[in-house]
Amino acid sequence: MAKAKRSVKFMCQECGYESPKWMGKCPNCGAWNQMVEMLEPTKKRAVIVYAYG
Ligand SMILES: [Zn+2]
Repeated sequence: MAKAKRSVKFMCQECGYESPKWMGKCPNCGAWNQMVEMLEPTKKRAVIVYAYG
């Protein structure tokens, strides 16, 4: 896979809400600082690489 662009998304640890960008507050469940960055190099699994807060 090319290293230049990777699909990145963020997921709320509280409710599993997914967003293409990081947000301080989850719009779905309202939890603060629960959005974690997910990398999707493949479809088989996502890896949490960094947890904010
Ligand atoms: Zn949430």
